Amino acid sequence: MMKFSKETRQRAIEKLQERELDLLIIGGGITGAGVAIQAAASGLETGLIEMQDFAEGTSSRSTKLVHGGIRYLKQFDVEVVSDTVKERAVVQQIAPHIPKADRMLLPVYDEPNSTFSMFRLKVAMDLYDLLAGVTGTPLANKELTKEEVLEREPQIKAEGLLGGGEYLDYINNDARLVIENIKRANEDGALVASRVKAVGYLKDENGKVTGVKAEDVLTGKTFEIKARIVINTTGPWSDVVRNMDNADAPILQMRPTKGVHLVVDSSKIKVPNATYFDTGLGDGRMVFVIPRENKTYFGTTDTDYHEDLAHPTVTKEDVDYLLEVVNNRFPEAKITLADIESSWAGLRPLISGNNASDYNGGDNGAISDESFDNLIATVSRYLNKEASRDDVTEAIVSIESNSSEKSPSTISRGSALDIDANGLVTLAGGKITDYRKMAEGAMQAIIEILAENYGRRYTLVNSKTYPVSGGELNPSNVESELETIASLGVKRGLELADARYIANVFGSNAPRVYNLAKDLEAAEGLSLRETLVLHYTMREEMVLTPVDYFLRRTNHLLFMRETLDELIAPISNEMAKFLGWTDEEKVAHLADLDKVLAESDLRAMKEAN
Ligand code: FAD
Repeated sequence: MMKFSKETRQRAIEKLQERELDLLIIGGGITGAGVAIQAAASGLETGLIEMQDFAEGTSSRSTKLVHGGIRYLKQFDVEVVSDTVKERAVVQQIAPHIPKADRMLLPVYDEPNSTFSMFRLKVAMDLYDLLAGVTGTPLANKELTKEEVLEREPQIKAEGLLGGGEYLDYINNDARLVIENIKRANEDGALVASRVKAVGYLKDENGKVTGVKAEDVLTGKTFEIKARIVINTTGPWSDVVRNMDNADAPILQMRPTKGVHLVVDSSKIKVPNATYFDTGLGDGRMVFVIPRENKTYFGTTDTDYHEDLAHPTVTKEDVDYLLEVVNNRFPEAKITLADIESSWAGLRPLISGNNASDYNGGDNGAISDESFDNLIATVSRYLNKEASRDDVTEAIVSIESNSSEKSPSTISRGSALDIDANGLVTLAGGKITDYRKMAEGAMQAIIEILAENYGRRYTLVNSKTYPVSGGELNPSNVESELETIASLGVKRGLELADARYIANVFGSNAPRVYNLAKDLEAAEGLSLRETLVLHYTMREEMVLTPVDYFLRRTNHLLFMRETLDELIAPISNEMAKFLGWTDEEKVAHLADLDKVLAESDLRAMKEAN
């Protein structure tokens, strides 16, 4: 059965034209996916169109962490951190097969302009844990001596090292989180199509938006979709989409900046855990170095961006900057351009007016000096065992309640929910980590409008406990549940390692992947595992091109670059057969893939060097 495929896309495009939806979502990144799952689960007649592949915008180009952003505690931006650090755990509950808890390591150096002193780091980590509710558990933070840091990371620069800290965050798979939300929305009846672009609005006589004009990007045909409410969740594009109706007085809310990540073999830099440190260049920025599969990736840069939104690229300056930073912290690594196996660049959908450079913070000034000093004093007394945990909690609660008085907001802070005079709703900003909360805030407003203006009454689903597709696992017992699932794959003839791989990627959907083995044998040049995964993603995850498959449904292109080339021919042969491509179509898809690979490999840059 084709649950979510080229065929269902065609059907969705037809059905989208036949009815009036309650809600049409423009944009299939994490923000749109998060709205779609809640809308469909709450019974709204929902549609979602995405002009590229799902997550092809920013949501496949992040640092791939679900994190609270400990750095923002430097400015004691408690509001933003409080939201995100609590949401980490919620995302883990609803998508237990995706984010994986990890202990982050943050080394502290004696150098000018460092983000944290040892004291401030300890305060920030304690606060982080308190906000997350993990104080006193095995997940709580730990202060590390210089020797302990070096023991964990022998390659890290010893000179000037004062010590460090270890604290909890989660490693994420951004694009898979998007597709799992979309799949669940589709299961719950949403009409969803990739490669359909909103190109204009339908309006009534009062100038209210009543739907969109859409273009099927694959055929060039345009059609109309009617909807009571249209929500714009197009991230970096959100001004562009809003301004399709505001040519005279364009809204300029977004100020995108570009972030770049580079991937090297783990033999180049070995880090046991994600490591997060000051660049050492005195520019106030911090960089992540993260282990993944057999690779290590690092980033990001943060530069203003004014070019093509669909196509941010890695420049020589980006590479030079990151290599300088990483080689300085890991002096033995001596990484050069030639060592970079793959890379990616993404655009942060920053809301202008939020002045910190790489995130959507709140208004830092909202916290009075008095409550800030009180908090610091209380935490230091706590560290000296002169104050109790309750005292610290009280100090935090007082900061939280003071600041929220000044910026009351139902949606997560750092994001913006706007409703224009024409009725268009725009939800933008934020982070992947707080996508559920952002969507919840938008859905509350949408459900209210549907009731008031259309007499259509819905009750919002409890999204904190509503699992994404593949997430029907007990969150407190994920490892053993996945192990049980993997044994089903072995029964279908897979090697245990392959069955485990599938269970880890697809969670509770893994048996659907294994069951394809009833009718499929390993395709020519492919393992059974690869064949099953490819077919599952074409049948149930709307994979339409080799890039969809290699880059976003799997991470093959980023983290298993060395085994990719040999897979290109057999994968595209199998896709051509299943999707019914002509020879020309196949050639075009392969050319697209090569273009993406050339960019990711930094081919031109390496040749020019
Ligand atoms: P997008 O993912 O860009 O989605 C918008 C979609 O709208 C796109 O797919 C686009 O194709 C589509 N679209 C645009 N115009 C149209 C149209 N006319 N019709 C139809 N579709 C359209 N967050 C974290 O939580 N953790 C991290 O570790 C993290 N690291 C980051 C690192 C970097 C370098 C960057 C850039 C961001 C990072 N973020 C992180 C932030 C996070 O990635 C973004 O906040 C999030 O992905 C934004 O999602 P979105 O859905 O709003 O936008």
